[in-house]
Amino acid sequence: MKKIAVLTSGGDSPGMNAAVRAVAKKAIYHDLEVFGVYRGYEGLMSGEIKSLKLEDVGGIIHRGGTILGSARSEKFKTEDGQLQAMNNLNNFGIDALVVIGGDGSYRGAQALHKKGIKTIGLPGTIDNDINGTDFTLGFSTAVNTVIEAIDRIRDTATSHERTFVIEVMGRDAGDIAAWAGLANGAESIFIPEKTTGKEGMIARLKQGFERGKKHSIIIVAEGVGTAEEFADYIREHSSYDARVTVLGHIQRGGSPVGFDRILGTRLGAKAVELLMADVAGKALGLEKNEISVHDFDYVFQKKASKRLEEFSKLSMELSM
Ligand code: ATP
Repeated sequence: MKKIAVLTSGGDSPGMNAAVRAVAKKAIYHDLEVFGVYRGYEGLMSGEIKSLKLEDVGGIIHRGGTILGSARSEKFKTEDGQLQAMNNLNNFGIDALVVIGGDGSYRGAQALHKKGIKTIGLPGTIDNDINGTDFTLGFSTAVNTVIEAIDRIRDTATSHERTFVIEVMGRDAGDIAAWAGLANGAESIFIPEKTTGKEGMIARLKQGFERGKKHSIIIVAEGVGTAEEFADYIREHSSYDARVTVLGHIQRGGSPVGFDRILGTRLGAKAVELLMADVAGKALGLEKNEISVHDFDYVFQKKASKRLEEFSKLSMELSM
C-alpha cells in the first residue's frame, strides 16, 4: 500500500479536519503518498482528487467543518457511480481510502471495499448514532454548543419567569437532547428512542412554578416533533405561555472542542496504521477510551441506547 486517499461525506462535523490532518500527517510520516478527495463521493466520481502535502493540512486542527468539503450523492449509490469512482482511484493508483462520515458514508465505503479498495470508516457525525463507538466525531462539540445556547436562553427565561421549548438536532437519535438536557438541568427532555407523553411535562411545569422556580427548560429532539407543537400543547393545557427556540445549524458548526480534536487525531492515525498492516473493511470507534475496530456490518446495527435511558431517568429525578 503506497497511496492512500481521504474523504469526508454526509453532514460535516467538528473534528473532521483533525482526522484529515492526522491521516495525511501519519501517512507522510511513513513515506506514503496521500490524496484528498474533495466533496465526498461526488468528487470521487468526478475526479476531484488532489495530492495532500504537509502545508495543506497545517493550521486546520482548530477549524470546524471540513477543508475537503462534503456532499451527498445519489449517483454514488448506483453500480455506475461506484465504477466511475473505482476508475478514478485506479487511475491515481490509490489502493486505500479513509472515509469520514456517518452510516450512509460507511455503506459507500463498504461497497468500495467489496470492489477491491481497502477502506476504513471513521465516525464523523454530530448525532452519536453509530454502533460500535461511545462517541462520534463532532458530538461533543455539538453538545457544548447546545449547552452554551441554552445557558443564554436560561438567563432570559429566569429574568422573565418563562418556559422555553428548545428544539435540537436528532431525527433518529436523542443523544444531543439527552446530554444537553442533563448538562442544562432541563425540566423535560423528549427523545425519539423513548415515547413519553406530554402530560408529565405539564405536571412538572406546574410543580416547578408552584415551588417558586423562575424558569423552565424543555428540550425536544427534532425526531419527536417540533418545538412549536410542544409550546402549543403547553398553552392549551396550562395557564403558562411558552417561547420557542430552534437551534438548527449552529449545532453543526464551530471550532471543535478538545475532545473532538483528540478523537479525530487518534482515529485518523489509527486508520493509517491499520491500512499499513493490511487491515481494511473496518469502522473505527472509541470504546472505553480505546480505539475499537469493527466490521461495517456490526456498526450498521442499531446502537443500544443504554446511556439514553440512564440520562433520561436521571434528568427526570433531578428536575423536581
Ligand atoms: P449523516 O449522519 O451526517 O447524515 P451520512 O454519512 O449518514 O452522514 P448520508 O447522506 O446517509 O450521510 O450518506 C452520505 C453519502 O454516502 C450518500 O450521499 C451516498 O453517496 C453514500 N451512500 C449512502 N448510502 C449508500 C449505499 N447504500 N451504498 C453506497 N453509497 C451510499
